[in-house]
Amino acid sequence: MVRRHHGRAIVGGMDCPFCKYNDTKVIRTLRSDDGLTITRRRECPRCGARFTTLEAIELQIIKHDGSREPFSRAKVINGVRKASQNLDIKDEDFKKLGLEVEEDLKARGEAEISSDEVGKAILKPLRDLNDVAYLRFASVYQDFSSLDDFKKSIHQLEGYHRRCAHGQQADDPAVDQEN
Ligand SMILES: [Zn+2]
Repeated sequence: MVRRHHGRAIVGGMDCPFCKYNDTKVIRTLRSDDGLTITRRRECPRCGARFTTLEAIELQIIKHDGSREPFSRAKVINGVRKASQNLDIKDEDFKKLGLEVEEDLKARGEAEISSDEVGKAILKPLRDLNDVAYLRFASVYQDFSSLDDFKKSIHQLEGYHRRCAHGQQADDPAVDQEN
């Protein structure tokens, strides 16, 4: 009863592996350091068996219209890919960024996150990956409507790179400021 998820083994589901009862009780929950999985100690109220499950964390994204959808790393990667057309970005860089965004969001320990937060979480690593992709993505996600919006963003991006070049804290407000 082993499923694969994100390359990790997930043992069982939430069903009792002994009697297949599907409404088992959680006794203890432990979150992994990377935020991607949780280990749960469960007990079956029907047969009394105790067992441990390794589960992927479910994260719901709240969209602008108020509807919800499960977080999808593939969707994050597709969005960045679209902004990266004709740019020389490697496949593994997209994958790395997708994983980074997922870890960032899930490590926050919240069950629901707004699509705006997802956009912000994408912009941070994108800044280091490719300037043009960053600006394209920012222009869509932050609804740029004028040349000034671009200028402001470019200015912040330059400031960010300057600070990085001087070895200062990379975690600066350039992304956050734009709200
Ligand atoms: Zn059972």
